Amino acid sequence: MAAEKSQSEGKKARKGRKHESMSPKDFYEAKGSELSRKRKPCPRCGEGTWLAQHKGRAYCGKCGYTVFEGKSSNASEEGKKEGTEK
Ligand SMILES: [Zn+2]
Repeated sequence: MAAEKSQSEGKKARKGRKHESMSPKDFYEAKGSELSRKRKPCPRCGEGTWLAQHKGRAYCGKCGYTVFEGKSSNASEEGKKEGTEK
């Protein structure tokens, strides 16, 4: 009998991050007796649909709703700068 190697060569085993599955536990955090949400719910889809947190914004993968975070609240003040000259 020839010595047979059980070989596991060829494909390298993938290393790296395992894709983490999202469980409801990841969305809530229990602090003492109160439950705080880590993520914001989507205003369009309602509770149960959470916005994905990106840098500077939160995005709903379901409806595409995006909310920009930050203190730039002057986006809604755009029409204020109109020239009143005649
Ligand atoms: Zn949504």
